[in-house]
Amino acid sequence: MKCPKCDYEMTANDYKGVQYDQCKNCGGLWFDALEAEELVEEKRAAEVDTGDPKVGSEYNKKWEIKCPACQVRMLPVHDVEQPHIQLESCPACHGTFFDAGEFKDFCEETFLDRVKDWFASKN
Ligand SMILES: [Zn+2]
Ligand SMILES: [Zn+2]
Repeated sequence: MKCPKCDYEMTANDYKGVQYDQCKNCGGLWFDALEAEELVEEKRAAEVDTGDPKVGSEYNKKWEIKCPACQVRMLPVHDVEQPHIQLESCPACHGTFFDAGEFKDFCEETFLDRVKDWFASKN
C-alpha cells in the first residue's frame, strides 16, 4: 500500500494484535476502520507513532488525498475533543490517516481527558 501523502511504500505492522501501516518516509500512520480506537485502549499505544512531529505537521497541510485502500477522496476530520488534531478519514472504508505525531497527541490527550473525567466524578 502506498502512503496517501508522499507516495512511499507503507510497511505493515502489528501492535498487540492490532494491524496498522506506517510510512517510512513521512512517518504517517494508517489504520483500517476502528483499529485506531482499538489501539488507543492500549496504555502505551502512543509508542507506535515514531515519526517526526515536525515532518508530520508539514504533511498535515496536505489533506486533499485519496484513500490508499479504495482510492476515494478522504475527508479532513477534526477530533471533537481535540480540534487541533486534523486527521483524514475515508468515507467509504472508514480508514484513518494520522500524520507523524498526531496519533501520540491523540492517545495522550485522550488519557488526560479520562483523568480529568475521573477527578470530575470524584467531586
Ligand atoms: Zn508518507
Ligand atoms: Zn477507503
